[in-house]
Amino acid sequence: MSYDRATIAAQANGQIDTATGGIVGAWQPSTTFVRDTDYATPPSGDVYRRPHAPTTREAEAVIAALEGGVEAALFSSGLAAAAALMRAAGGPRVAVQRGSYYGTQVLAERLAEGTEPITFDGASLDSLRETVARHKPALVLIETPSNPFLDVIDIASAAKIAHEAGASLAVDSTTATPILTRPIEHGADIVMHSATKGLNGHSDVLAGALVVGGGDRTLFDAALDIRSKEGCVLSPFDAWLLTRGMRTVHLRVTAASHAALHIANWLASHPKVTTVRYPGLPGHPGHAVAAAQMTGGFGALLSFDVAGGAEAALALAARLKLVKRATSLGGVETLIEHRHSIEPPSTHMPPGLLRLSVGIEAVGDIVADLDQALDAVP
Ligand SMILES: *Cc1c(COP(=O)(O)O)cnc(C)c1O
Repeated sequence: MSYDRATIAAQANGQIDTATGGIVGAWQPSTTFVRDTDYATPPSGDVYRRPHAPTTREAEAVIAALEGGVEAALFSSGLAAAAALMRAAGGPRVAVQRGSYYGTQVLAERLAEGTEPITFDGASLDSLRETVARHKPALVLIETPSNPFLDVIDIASAAKIAHEAGASLAVDSTTATPILTRPIEHGADIVMHSATKGLNGHSDVLAGALVVGGGDRTLFDAALDIRSKEGCVLSPFDAWLLTRGMRTVHLRVTAASHAALHIANWLASHPKVTTVRYPGLPGHPGHAVAAAQMTGGFGALLSFDVAGGAEAALALAARLKLVKRATSLGGVETLIEHRHSIEPPSTHMPPGLLRLSVGIEAVGDIVADLDQALDAVP
């Protein structure tokens, strides 16, 4: 019997503590595990925590079930997961999306071994098609909706383009979460998450995940080998917190998505706001694709530009009382970030852009705070 994602999340994929009957799984911190008298590896496979960790496996089972995948692997951060995957494919043989998460682009540059990283425009399937035909990458990594530009890519078309050229398709689905999109159902080979964000949702765990579908698992296994041999593993306490956080992922993501749509509409009609990027708005170039490929909402992330550039954006941010000025996204609290202050000039981040990660506070309180802060914009 396969359950709905809400059911999988709420009951941690049906896992209990088998030793005690506890409704919540135990946190198992051991780094080493006793062998039988015949010195055989125990059936669990647990001998040492770097290659195999029981508490981590419980969180992985939840993520794999939420994504409709075959297996999930957790890493010490989202970028550790991305790095393992990209290195598994051969660093210079990975095509990454321009305008995707800045850390992913930096990673692609580092792993390109002195060559220019292979990149494509995330808002254009033609750009992806040309790039793949010219460079013949082993892996294409897309991000939808992208952070912070909210570009939307049709996963099924991207998978077809990648597969026809002999490449695997991985989707960084951090901003969508498995509640809104299950990329494997659309043809992706691997799903990647910064579980730091919406999956955990409480801004208290740093973690990354890879999930593999039912197809070829060579890259996934190679990434697992990197984790096991090089040690980019999650601590069991973080894995335990992640399982706890994911019990409410469906409620949090659905509520935040509804609030984000409301806020995006409100911002779009505000005279001091020049641009709102949110795939839930009918005017967004990726709205139709997002409406078809996302279910139950368009996500917690949006970005908007204010007239008056960096000075106006920073003045707005400074005046906020409820919304916190902080990086990251997908938490229960609303956060705002001025990416232009953080990224180097080479990324051409619009100076007036503010990224908003909408939380689950009362939407009226968030709007009221933004409203009074927008008064600071000349
Ligand atoms: C935060 C983020 C990452 C990196 O994850 P960490 O857990 O911070 O290493 C990757 N992709 C996206 C879209 C992100 O938002």
